Amino acid sequence: MKTKTFAIGGIHVDKHKISSQSAIQELALPEMVYIPVKQHIGAPAKIVVKVGDRVKVGTLLAEADGVLSASVYASVSGQVMKIEEVNSGQGYLETVITVKREGDEFEESMDLSDEIVREIPDNKEELLKIIRSAGIVGMGGAGFPTPVKTNIPEGKSVDTLIINGIECEPYLTADSRLMEEKAEQIVIGTRILNKILGIQHAIIAIDENKPQAIARLQEITKRYVGVNVQSCKSIYPQGGEKQLINTITGREVPSGKLPLDAHCVVQNVATVYAIYEAVQKRIPLFRRVLTLSGNADLTPSNYLVRIGTPISFILHENQVNMDNVGKVIAGGPMMGQAIAALEAPVTKTTSGITVLSAETADKPETSACIRCGKCVDACPMGLMPLNIRAAVEENDIAILKSLHVQDCILCGSCSYVCPAKIPLLDYCKIGKYELGRQQKAK
Ligand code: SF4
Ligand code: SF4
Repeated sequence: MKTKTFAIGGIHVDKHKISSQSAIQELALPEMVYIPVKQHIGAPAKIVVKVGDRVKVGTLLAEADGVLSASVYASVSGQVMKIEEVNSGQGYLETVITVKREGDEFEESMDLSDEIVREIPDNKEELLKIIRSAGIVGMGGAGFPTPVKTNIPEGKSVDTLIINGIECEPYLTADSRLMEEKAEQIVIGTRILNKILGIQHAIIAIDENKPQAIARLQEITKRYVGVNVQSCKSIYPQGGEKQLINTITGREVPSGKLPLDAHCVVQNVATVYAIYEAVQKRIPLFRRVLTLSGNADLTPSNYLVRIGTPISFILHENQVNMDNVGKVIAGGPMMGQAIAALEAPVTKTTSGITVLSAETADKPETSACIRCGKCVDACPMGLMPLNIRAAVEENDIAILKSLHVQDCILCGSCSYVCPAKIPLLDYCKIGKYELGRQQKAK
């Protein structure tokens, strides 16, 4: 099979996939879970329980409020203890439902057996309804409600479904393990999306550095006509939606537009697995697989975790030595968010927890820009990071707009290659934020 890649920029990063051989294991259950009512892009879900209510695993806690929203479910059985606004751990307030665990009792409707269900319901509206009701959102990080992304509006058309199994962030291996251990379920989930989109074909894109996942899915897809596996070059950020569309189809998503404008739908493998569980097993999204890894003193692992589990609980279960920890990140080191409060819970979009040693986490000394152009060569969006930095420093919004800072995907490639160690990614974040804020104000 010929390995493909995207046209502009990209960098080679050390992958550190040290948890790749660690099979998915179910994490012990915490005493309390903290379930935010907004774990997605859009409106918070509307709370349908009250303090004191008894719930089971899979009981609806809050219902999607409008089209761009997603329901949330209890991930443990027990009692609703609190409904309150708390610090998210990432600098903002959010409404959280606290459930105290008592036993582990499930809603009867769920099929929790290992049996694979292959027969797919035929009705597109019914499939969308199930996915919506199960609270499924993009689990690769974006958290966009999946029914919205897969329900194609009038006047638009799709001819390519891409399943994103790239997982290009260093350390993270949860998607890789899912592809190896739940390959057929992912292919059936892909087939469900095919039915919804009304197209016959799909491509599962996998990084060339995952030969076991490629082999496993190639073996399974032999039995499913129209689903093919594509090996992609191990270059960062291969898993970016726009980069992946370019890799697979050669098309470009125009500035400010969506994959749909390139006639593509992209779904991450964890999302596709959740779709399988919702449609074929009637299991709403109350758990997910995540990686715990990093260069701190820990055991690299892939866990099946209940949503709402505190990150501190996972670190404790893994016996992470916290003495020399400099930073804990939700996600990978390139695009993840540093966690300020370790009590913050796992959400639907937490694909991993990266724990870095104090030495790695220290901000390096910066020096003057030597105008080497490395940041420009690395940028997969064809931007000029060094000029974005200058415009941010001068707070020149007109220049920021002309530099297309809003197209920045915040991949961090520019910061990674800069020999002067200038935090270009931070400047891009500020630039995007300031431009967005001023446009909104207007
Ligand atoms: S990589 Fe760093 S030093 Fe080189 S041009 Fe860009 S900002 Fe300047
Ligand atoms: S963070 Fe933005 S500017 Fe920097 S390389 Fe990525 S897309 Fe380009």
